[in-house]
Amino acid sequence: YKGKIITVVGSGLIGRSWAMVFLSGGYRVKIYDNQPGQATKAIAEIRKQVEELQDAQMLRGKLSASEQLSLLSSHDDLSQALEGAFFVQECVFEDLQAKQTVFQAVENHVGEDTILSSSTSCLMPSNVFSLVQNPKRCIISHPVNPPYYVRLVELVPHPETLPTVMDMAFELMTEVGQAPVRLRKEIDGFALNRVQYAIIAECWRLVEDNVISVKDIDLVMSEGLGMRYAFIGPIETMHLNAPNGLEDYLGRYREGIRRVLSSFGPIPEFDGEAAARINKEICELIPSDQEHLSARRERRDQLLMGLAKLKK
Ligand code: NAD
Repeated sequence: YKGKIITVVGSGLIGRSWAMVFLSGGYRVKIYDNQPGQATKAIAEIRKQVEELQDAQMLRGKLSASEQLSLLSSHDDLSQALEGAFFVQECVFEDLQAKQTVFQAVENHVGEDTILSSSTSCLMPSNVFSLVQNPKRCIISHPVNPPYYVRLVELVPHPETLPTVMDMAFELMTEVGQAPVRLRKEIDGFALNRVQYAIIAECWRLVEDNVISVKDIDLVMSEGLGMRYAFIGPIETMHLNAPNGLEDYLGRYREGIRRVLSSFGPIPEFDGEAAARINKEICELIPSDQEHLSARRERRDQLLMGLAKLKK
């Protein structure tokens, strides 16, 4: 990878994080943003974070902070930013038209083999890449915030994406220390958000129906399910939770699981009286002013850092 170039288009929260991840893998990273001065600002922010990480002995990769930072540059000109890139990670606003336009422009400045990758959380590859000439080299690499500590990347193909492109993205993500997973076809919400929304829906219903408080349902996750989900998934959980593995588990619990699932309510409105009540309850625990929210975010990132260390 020495000397290989990755271009990050869009230098907000996610663009900056991707840049740090790629730098930690020893890649040259060129950042572009269409807001003048924004990419320069991003570089200053990355510099600060990379140095802080080094001081905290949490810097990823084999290179020192100054070695990593020497691989970084910012550009206000798109063609300059894309020159020599073998991989482009798009991180602009979550807006379909913006992304379509960006990829159309990007395609005009790169060679045929350059992989075009989008960070979109919710848009389908067939829509994001609908205006590109050659969707075979296009893919979605959906990170989880903050990607520096939460390593999962969902790789989602366009219907025409070449298997070799999927493989190369998988290799790149693995090499820079992320944990890629492959979706075999596109689906709304990908895998992570489909699971997340299922959890949100049932937690919401339980609070809405006055079964449990906001504080306690969050504890059900953080002190219960979440404890093992940081290390093993739900299928392995089933496999381990009966003496003789998954089939044994199903023999014992199939009926019960189906009975409980059949009592789940309809999709919540996430609105009206229930939303007002749930908002009031969470705000009593964590007021929604910037000071309190920032403090909780900082705590979250500190704990994630510790967990990431533990998982290593
Ligand atoms: P952000 O608002 O922090 O940053 C967007 C950046 O893109 C801004 O700096 C903006 O100036 C720049 N930009 C906008 N249009 C552009 C263009 N045409 N060309 C170049 N730059 C342009 O947003 P973010 O939170 O970093 O999200 C970026 C993408 O990552 C979105 O698609 C989002 O869905 C996805 N994502 C976000 C998260 C998250 O938790 N924030 C998690 C996973 C994926």
